[in-house]
Amino acid sequence: MKSRIFLVLLLLLNGSLIGISQEANNEKLLETFHSISSNEILGFVEELSSEKYEGRLSGSPEYMDASRWCASKFEEWGIAPANKGSYFQYFPNEYSDVLELGEVVYTNKGQATKLKFPEEYLPGSNSDSGTLEAGLVYVGHGITAPELGYDDYKNVDVKGKIIILETGTPYTKNDPELARWTPYAYHRYKFRNAVKHGAAGMIYASKIANPNTVHLDGFIYAHVEPKIVEQIFIDAGKNYSTVKKQLKQMETPSFTFPANQTVKITAKTKYHPDAKACNVVGMIEGSDPNLKDEVIIVGGHLDGQGQMGDVMFPSALDNASGVADILAAAKAFAQLEVKPKRSILFILIGGEECGLYGSKQYTDQPLFPVEKTRMMINLDMVGNGTGFFLTGGKTYTDLYRHFELANNKWIHRSLQTNEVTKNYGRPRSDASNFENAGIPTFGLWTRNSVFPVYYHDPRDKTDVLTPEIMEDAAKLLFLGISGIANDETL
Ligand SMILES: [Zn+2]
Repeated sequence: MKSRIFLVLLLLLNGSLIGISQEANNEKLLETFHSISSNEILGFVEELSSEKYEGRLSGSPEYMDASRWCASKFEEWGIAPANKGSYFQYFPNEYSDVLELGEVVYTNKGQATKLKFPEEYLPGSNSDSGTLEAGLVYVGHGITAPELGYDDYKNVDVKGKIIILETGTPYTKNDPELARWTPYAYHRYKFRNAVKHGAAGMIYASKIANPNTVHLDGFIYAHVEPKIVEQIFIDAGKNYSTVKKQLKQMETPSFTFPANQTVKITAKTKYHPDAKACNVVGMIEGSDPNLKDEVIIVGGHLDGQGQMGDVMFPSALDNASGVADILAAAKAFAQLEVKPKRSILFILIGGEECGLYGSKQYTDQPLFPVEKTRMMINLDMVGNGTGFFLTGGKTYTDLYRHFELANNKWIHRSLQTNEVTKNYGRPRSDASNFENAGIPTFGLWTRNSVFPVYYHDPRDKTDVLTPEIMEDAAKLLFLGISGIANDETL
């Protein structure tokens, strides 16, 4: 009888102890939540956008320096290396240094106009070095697809010429038909096809800094503002918008420009075919013996667009902002005395701008079994604006509700979501590699209708960021992931 009373007492006491410790945990969680500060996050972005990292071009020594700085933060906060004792997961990543801004000069009937950097042109990230002056040929999307009965090159001779090329494919609707066009959507395909047809160089009618291209010996190119292309059309007595409409209708309106219209491109680059880059991987082990084998991945790309001549692309919004938020959330998790039940892997991804190399490396050689990976959240461009968009919430409702709960209770920003839709086109974000690997994946970005977004442009500096939303994004990440990591009903 005595022993039974003792047992009841013990159970009661134990129960209230659990209650007390649960409350203490929640208090600690909120205290840590409130310690996430915009000031510190802005400091991370400023570090990553600073001159010493030269715009974090994946493959470059400066990118590797930035990756080591991030790893040093993980180490300082007690976040464990996640790759067999190392914070790094390496992969091959060829790249080119753009040593000079070079020049692009357009000549019409003897009148030369030098294009302005960065308003009218940007150097090609993977152009070969040299000077090329030649006549022009418009080749639309630059696609040769016999099985689709489509050839932009069928009526033109581009040998020794500078082609004018458009991005993308004429077919744009996201349905199974698009999958047939996808192999032709890659910049690398288009470049190789141009060289195969004998083109000497190119102006790309898409003015962004873009390392997601390929170095081909002797091939010189630059990115040019579409307005300049339009002027070249006008000078030839052609209508650019009519031609673009023809492209949409699957016609191939390629043509050769009059001989008195030429372009001269000068480029100076250094090609590094054998370079490598890395993902930075840090880990917080789960505290529950049964659930710690399950992993939640929090990721975002660390690389940027690099430097051209002495002009740096700080790549602050895209995507120092995402990395800074991940660092802030990681630091917060590291401060918790009682860690979440499931394990959390933080991955700062390399080679995104070069063609999603780092996320492919991870999903090809995952550090934790895919079937034990509960979810992934990818942060890309979370640095300015007023609200959040979190893709995938209508598909993964049991996971998403934790983000919704955190937002409704503590953050109070507009939060929108959607369903995961199958992408038949070219994958354009690290999230797609994780989703394709069978991992439920969310993509977080901030919605913005007020602040300027300088996409792949040297003006993507820290001064276009709003630190308050970065703080809220890190807080949303911290509370949402806490909720999921501790949810025993999943
Ligand atoms: Zn990005």
